[in-house]
Amino acid sequence: MKIAMIGTGYVGLVSGICLSDFGHEVVCVDKDASKVEMLQQGEVPIYEPGLDQLMEKNVSAGRLSFTIDLPEALDGADAVFIAVGTPTRRGDGHADLSFVMAAAEEIARTAKNYIVIVTKSTVPVGTNRQVKQTVRKANPDLEFDVASNPEFLREGAAIEDFMKPDRVVVGVQTERAAEVMQEIYRPLYLREFPIMTTDLESAEMIKYAANAFLATKITFINEIAALCERTGADVKQVSRGMGFDGRIGNKFLHAGPGYGGSCFPKDTRALARTGQEHGLPLQITETVIAVNEEIKRRMIDKLVDMCDGSFNGKTVAVLGATFKPNTDDMREAPSLTIVPALVGGGAKVRVCDPQGKREGQERLPGVQWIDDPYKCVGNAHLVVLLTEWNEFRALDLKRIARKMETPRLADLRNIYSVKDAKRAGFDAYESVGRVGFT
Ligand code: NAD
Repeated sequence: MKIAMIGTGYVGLVSGICLSDFGHEVVCVDKDASKVEMLQQGEVPIYEPGLDQLMEKNVSAGRLSFTIDLPEALDGADAVFIAVGTPTRRGDGHADLSFVMAAAEEIARTAKNYIVIVTKSTVPVGTNRQVKQTVRKANPDLEFDVASNPEFLREGAAIEDFMKPDRVVVGVQTERAAEVMQEIYRPLYLREFPIMTTDLESAEMIKYAANAFLATKITFINEIAALCERTGADVKQVSRGMGFDGRIGNKFLHAGPGYGGSCFPKDTRALARTGQEHGLPLQITETVIAVNEEIKRRMIDKLVDMCDGSFNGKTVAVLGATFKPNTDDMREAPSLTIVPALVGGGAKVRVCDPQGKREGQERLPGVQWIDDPYKCVGNAHLVVLLTEWNEFRALDLKRIARKMETPRLADLRNIYSVKDAKRAGFDAYESVGRVGFT
C-alpha cells in the first residue's frame, strides 16, 4: 500500500514510521518546513524512545520519506491519514477542527484518483461526515471514502502501543474502504490483535469515551487520596487493594497531582461540549474536569504549607516538568500550573527534567534549568517531585537532604515514603493520599 500521512507530530510521525515498518510505502507531510528538514536529515524532532532507530531503518529500506509537498505524497496513494492537532478551541471547550478541515480541503484539491481519507486525529462525533462534505464540496469529481481510525498510543511507549495495540478501531461506510483499511493493518490481523470495524460515529465516540473513562478513573483515585490524607488511610494501599479486583483493574489508579498532558484535558472538555451541544450534559465528565482543577489547586496549597505559608524568598527545586516520563511533551503538564504559582509567589525556582528543557524554557519563564538533580536541589528550601522519570525513582535521598537549606520533600508521585524521608534526614515529607510529617 502507498500511504500519505499528514502531520508529523507525536501521533503522525509514530504512525507513519510504524506503518512503513509494516512494509507499506509511507510519505509523511508536514507544513512545518523546519520539522520536515530535520526529518529529512534523519533527526527526530520529538523525544520518543526507539523512534530514531525505527525511522532510520525504514528510510534506509526506501519505504519512508518526508516532504512538505502534499501532491508528491498523494501521488498514487491508496490512503491518506490526517494526524494533525485538535486542540481546545478558545472560549468554548470544543475541539478546534480547523487543522483537520484545512487538511481535508488540501486533499480534495490535490487528490486525483480514488483514495481513502482516514482521520487519525481525535475528533468529535460527526466530524468524519463533515470531512466527507468538505471534500465533496471542494472537489465534486473526486472518488473517495472516509474512515475514522482513532489512535490510542501513549507517548513514551508509542511504538509498542502502535505495534501491539489492545485494539485497532476502524469506522467506515463502505466495503471498499474497509478493505483498504484491512490491507493497511494486515500485519496486525495476522498477529491476531483485535481489529474492530464500526460505523463512523461509534469509532469517533469510542476514542472520547475511552479517554474520559481513564480521566475519570485517575480523578476518582485522586479524590479518594484527598480523603485518605484526612482520615489517615494510605492511598497506595487502597488502590492496590482495589486493583486486585478484576472488575476494577490496577491501571490508572495511581494518585498524583491531577491529570494533564496532550489528550485527557482537551478530550474531556470536547466530550463535555459535545454533550452540551446535544442537550445532554455529561455530568460525570463535567465533574471530573472540575475535580481535576480542584486537585491541581490543592497541590499548590500543599506546597505553600510546606513553605511555612509563603513561597516568597524560598528556593524551590522542581524535579520533572513533562506531563509524564519518557516524553518531552509539556502540554497541560502539572508543572505549567505549579511552577508559575511558585514563581508568582516569589520563589526562586530551579527545574530539572531529562527531556523537558527545550520546550520548558519557552513555557516556564523565570526559572533556572539545571541538568543534574543533585545540583538542582543545592540550598533549596523545598524539593517538589513532579514527574516520575526513572532518573528520580532511585535518588540518593541522604545526599539530597544534605545539600538543602531546609530538607523538605513534596513527593507528588508517591515514589518515596515517610520512612525513606525520615531515614534520609528530611524534616518534612508530604505526598498524595498519605499522611506525611513536618
Ligand atoms: P502535534 O501537535 O504533535 O502534531 C500535529 C502536526 O500536524 C504538527 O507537526 C503540525 O505542523 C502538523 N499539521 C497541522 N496542519 C497540517 C496540514 N494542513 N498539513 C500538514 N501538516 C499539518 O499533535 P499530536 O500530539 O500528534 O496529535 C495529533 C492528533 O492525535 C490529535 O487529534 C490528538 O488528540 C490525537 N492523539 C494524540 C495522542 C498523543 O499522545 N499525542 C494520542 C492519541 C491521539
